[in-house]
Amino acid sequence: MFRAGVTLPFKLLGIPIKLDFSLFLILPLFAWLIGSQLPMFLQTFGLARQPQLTEGLTPYLLGLAAAVGLFLSVLVHELGHSFVGQRYGAKIKEITLWLLGGVAQFEEMPKRRGAEAVIAIAGPLTSLALAGLAWLVVQTAPLGAATTFVLIYLIVANLALAIFNLLPALPLDGGRVLRSLLALRLGELRATEISATISRSLAVLLGIIGLLGLNFFLVLIAFFIYTAVGAEAQHTLASEMLRGVRVEQLMTPNPTAVTPHVMVKELVGLMLQERHLGYPVIDLHGQVVGLVELADAQRPEVAETTTVGEIMQRAVPKVTWQTEALEAFKKMAERNFGRLIVVDEEGRLMGVLSKTDMIRAIQVQLLERRLSQGYRS
Ligand SMILES: [Zn+2]
Repeated sequence: MFRAGVTLPFKLLGIPIKLDFSLFLILPLFAWLIGSQLPMFLQTFGLARQPQLTEGLTPYLLGLAAAVGLFLSVLVHELGHSFVGQRYGAKIKEITLWLLGGVAQFEEMPKRRGAEAVIAIAGPLTSLALAGLAWLVVQTAPLGAATTFVLIYLIVANLALAIFNLLPALPLDGGRVLRSLLALRLGELRATEISATISRSLAVLLGIIGLLGLNFFLVLIAFFIYTAVGAEAQHTLASEMLRGVRVEQLMTPNPTAVTPHVMVKELVGLMLQERHLGYPVIDLHGQVVGLVELADAQRPEVAETTTVGEIMQRAVPKVTWQTEALEAFKKMAERNFGRLIVVDEEGRLMGVLSKTDMIRAIQVQLLERRLSQGYRS
């Protein structure tokens, strides 16, 4: 989801901060929306409609300040999650600000009981604290009309952030808290199933409210929740099923390999015969030096006498046989690899791990669970 973007030249709490491309579209839009409705905002906030605020470009500058403040608030919210996560020993890969807010990407959720709930609740609590802080400043400091407007906007925005994120829908914070609490009693799997159902229902409800109120942003968020729930549930399922399993147990051992000297003509013959579309390439010592797939053999510049060494991919997606299956699963998902080459400590070929191998392993585990549950009752 987050490909194009700008990474800030500094880190916060040791975490890189990325601004997604979509942010640069939404910021001016927000600035314009707030600016063009400034009189309405002033009235709602109980502020006098001073001409120096509502004339010329000033409303849009105020809108921009408010919009930037909003996304800074989102950033602080994510830093709240990250700070508490780090106390549990979690590593945070990066924080991304995008169209619909922020995401703190945890490399691994700490497995301590209830940790997920505490980390999740830290975000909304941070937003509440920010709102409180802004309120204190408004109450005590002698401020100009413009600053007062921006601060009151931030009080409202942070309250809204806290409340919205407490909705019990995955992947929002409230959904994580609910899932984590349910998991204490029902186990990860059942808890995720229940949370996913609640989340989808809430997403549909939000979508309907958004459509009725013609609130496009709400519809977008509802859609985001609905689609994100599936990914979240899948991830939990995979991590639950693959826990403690190593690549060695799932891989196809001793796969057919080719050497760099093999000619493409022979390679294609082998592919047709074995109905395999990709082969690891090994040197004389059994070291993996590449990977060759049907697409490589079909490139226009390839002649029948071209050798595998000339067309193979040299950057091979590799894992060692001791790698945790979950780690391998993530690697596949992140880089969109269909198969990984499994090697020993010296880089020699041991096996191939395909997506199908992983899915089969998950399905077998699921089946076993269902059966054992069935026998118990
Ligand atoms: Zn949050």
